[in-house]
Amino acid sequence: MDRKRFCKCGCGQEIKWKPYHKYYTPKYIFGHSNKGKKFTFTKKHKENIGKTGKGRVPWNKGKKGLQKHSIKTKEKISEKLTGRLHLKKQKRK
Ligand SMILES: [Zn+2]
Repeated sequence: MDRKRFCKCGCGQEIKWKPYHKYYTPKYIFGHSNKGKKFTFTKKHKENIGKTGKGRVPWNKGKKGLQKHSIKTKEKISEKLTGRLHLKKQKRK
């Protein structure tokens, strides 16, 4: 049970045993896993991200009014909804 594990990021620190390591033994000290991976975006990558963010169209854009419910349908829907609420109130104890 006393297997010593050292952080693989190269910091040389020992990973202290925690109960949950029974199920999963981390290779790194918490927060060290990204160290030295050079997790940086290239300039191009960043530009691409910016583009996708700017060009995004909301899913509901232009969709207003596409759902054509007649007044009758609306009434039916609201009837159903109120019926549900009613049932909820009638919960037996
Ligand atoms: Zn480390």
